[in-house]
Amino acid sequence: MTTIHNLGFPRIGAHRELKFALEAYWKGESSRDALQTLGAQLRQQHWAQQAGLDLVPVGDFSFYDQVLDMSFLLGNLPERVRGFHGDPLDNYFRVARGRSAPSTEDDSACCGNVAAGEMTKWFDTNYHYIVPEFHASTEFSLDAARLQAQLAEAKAQGVQAKPVIIGPVTYLAIGKSKDESNKLALLERLLPVYAELLDTLAAQGVEWVQIDEPILVTELDADWQHAFNLAYHHLKATKVKLLVATYFGPLQDNAYLAANLPVAGLHLDAVNDPQGVRTLLNLLSPHKVLSLGVINGRNIWKTDLTAVLDWLEPLAQRLQERLWLAPSCSLLHVPVDLDIEQRLDSDVKSWLAFALQKLDELRVLGKALRQGRDAVRAELAANVAALAARRSSARVHNPAVHAAVSRVDTHLGQRESAYARRASKQAALLRLPTYPTTTIGSFPQTAQIRHARSAFKAGRMDFVEYQAVMRAEIERSVREQEALDLDVLVHGEAERNDMVEYFGEQLDGYAFSQFGWVQSYGSRCVKPPILFGDISRPKAMTVDWITYAQQLTTKPVKGMLTGPVTMLNWSFVRDDQPRSVSCTQLALAIRAEVLDLEKAGVRIIQIDEAALREGLPLRKTQWQEYLDWAVESFRIAANGVRDETQIHTHMCYSEFNDIIASIADMDADVITIETARSDMELLDAFEHFQYPNEIGPGVYDIHSPNVPTQERIVQLMQKAAERIPAERLWVNPDCGLKTRQWSEVTPALANMVAAAKILRAGA
Ligand code: GLN
Ligand code: ZN
Repeated sequence: MTTIHNLGFPRIGAHRELKFALEAYWKGESSRDALQTLGAQLRQQHWAQQAGLDLVPVGDFSFYDQVLDMSFLLGNLPERVRGFHGDPLDNYFRVARGRSAPSTEDDSACCGNVAAGEMTKWFDTNYHYIVPEFHASTEFSLDAARLQAQLAEAKAQGVQAKPVIIGPVTYLAIGKSKDESNKLALLERLLPVYAELLDTLAAQGVEWVQIDEPILVTELDADWQHAFNLAYHHLKATKVKLLVATYFGPLQDNAYLAANLPVAGLHLDAVNDPQGVRTLLNLLSPHKVLSLGVINGRNIWKTDLTAVLDWLEPLAQRLQERLWLAPSCSLLHVPVDLDIEQRLDSDVKSWLAFALQKLDELRVLGKALRQGRDAVRAELAANVAALAARRSSARVHNPAVHAAVSRVDTHLGQRESAYARRASKQAALLRLPTYPTTTIGSFPQTAQIRHARSAFKAGRMDFVEYQAVMRAEIERSVREQEALDLDVLVHGEAERNDMVEYFGEQLDGYAFSQFGWVQSYGSRCVKPPILFGDISRPKAMTVDWITYAQQLTTKPVKGMLTGPVTMLNWSFVRDDQPRSVSCTQLALAIRAEVLDLEKAGVRIIQIDEAALREGLPLRKTQWQEYLDWAVESFRIAANGVRDETQIHTHMCYSEFNDIIASIADMDADVITIETARSDMELLDAFEHFQYPNEIGPGVYDIHSPNVPTQERIVQLMQKAAERIPAERLWVNPDCGLKTRQWSEVTPALANMVAAAKILRAGA
């Protein structure tokens, strides 16, 4: 009998109940009890929704982050919060956010504000966790109260509970040593706490524990491989059975290591690595459970159930009750419920599965293996029909787009001339001063703007009125920028709620859900658009707004676009063609827009690639292949213009060292980047590489309301000029200003422009 189980369930709630409850609590608008009650209700509901599974995850619920929960469980709190007394939940939020609710009584009596925990991306997902902090002196101690309480709740509900924890090696690997000491040296201190935890769970009647070790799908050197052996030999004596879970990719050369760990079972991401399963079968000792993740936990497409069964049935014959089935990874990374979507196109909707629907698929597969396919004949037939409709749908397949993609060749991504020649033509035309000033695109999204946009979307405001409101905003920001004496202006992006959604809505091949939220961090969620078909651009998307802005002023206004790689990386993408092909299609659509802007007289066009780095594969050996097609897509989008047209790109992160050659290969005339917080150190990468084109290193952090001083900006730019020749430097903020108030933006930009003038005078 095949066991079916789940690795983790989205906790935010189908209607983002947890988000709203958290935010109300943080604002002091609701009580801690109300928050705790809501948490318990969500857990209860989510367990009920997983009914019919043989094992249900417990401990995957979190008020902020499962990695932070793990740090609390292991007693590994940053030094700065250790002395805290007061309510444990408030302390937990203090570590996560740097503060608890704004004015809880104990804030003044106790702890006040502290630095928030650093966040980083959980493997290659868009989920961000709070990075565990380590020192040479870090000690661990068990605090299992939270997990135990959830287990007790689950038991009371009659749930077949399988606690989920992060394994010791992954926990160390994803944390950060704050004193340059070797994290691995802590393993010895960490393992007894894990052993104690497992004993505690055994005493509570737990049979299986899922212990997540996704670090096994990355490249591990000998020390880390050894750590795995050490860790699991140490934990061998435990009375619970351990299911080591790996996901997000193939084990590859870690297959032997994983197969031979002294544990009761291993979970594999079979979606990403069906061949790897064959290898593993031969390595795995005959008593071990093999859990196969056959339903994709990272996308929103229906599974081809018949194909999976064709593949699984012989395996089930061979493995019998040792075969378990699950989604490939936790369902944290997909939206909760497709059924509540009311506005999705019915064709597209029939091809999709969110978390609840994925669990239904799992149940069907389980039943088919236990009772034969006949027992689920209707479900399989419906699945076959949906997939066939998708495969042949004219909504998905557009021959003109395929033809255009097949005509793509290298000259498409090639500028007419090399940078130096372009730069002199552009300089003659644009006549910008040295240290030209600009902004990254967006200006404050005021309540009035949001209000007009939502009224227009809901049909309560007609286009004429909407256009008038937006044009008034554009005019206001143009006048503001003229008064500030900025050199290159922007229209301010008032008409955009989101840099991907805005374009996705105007491209064919994209669909948008109403409730397809996925947790990004804490209470923050994103709603990725669904790229379901061949991408084409029915008509120009930005030209009217930009040309309106341009005719208000004699200064150049930048055309503002989102690049193909960012569109791709921030969307749910197709599983029926390589990402690179979808990216090329996006590139061709953006290219058409670029050329329309140029034709309309726009002299500078910025193509944002905020998410280029995010697409990097987990294994470094695969980076180059990704970078090659990603960069080529950008080049296709950008490089069809004449020499005189200046292409800008923007990236808001601060790690370029390892991808600088590819960044240079994009060949944008100007790149603006986020540097303020790194004190310009990140320009080292550009300096060492002798990056040839122009750079605008951000001179102030737009995440903070603080107004930067002139002196500080001058100082930063002087540091920049030590690394990059002054004639190739621009002066701009780190990123767009849409989350700020005008009352912050105006003085900040005034100081920025004044600083540029000081620099020019000194140059
Ligand atoms: N042009 C966008 C803006 O200014 C860029 C945003 C981003 O890089 N994330 O908002
Ligand atoms: Zn940015």
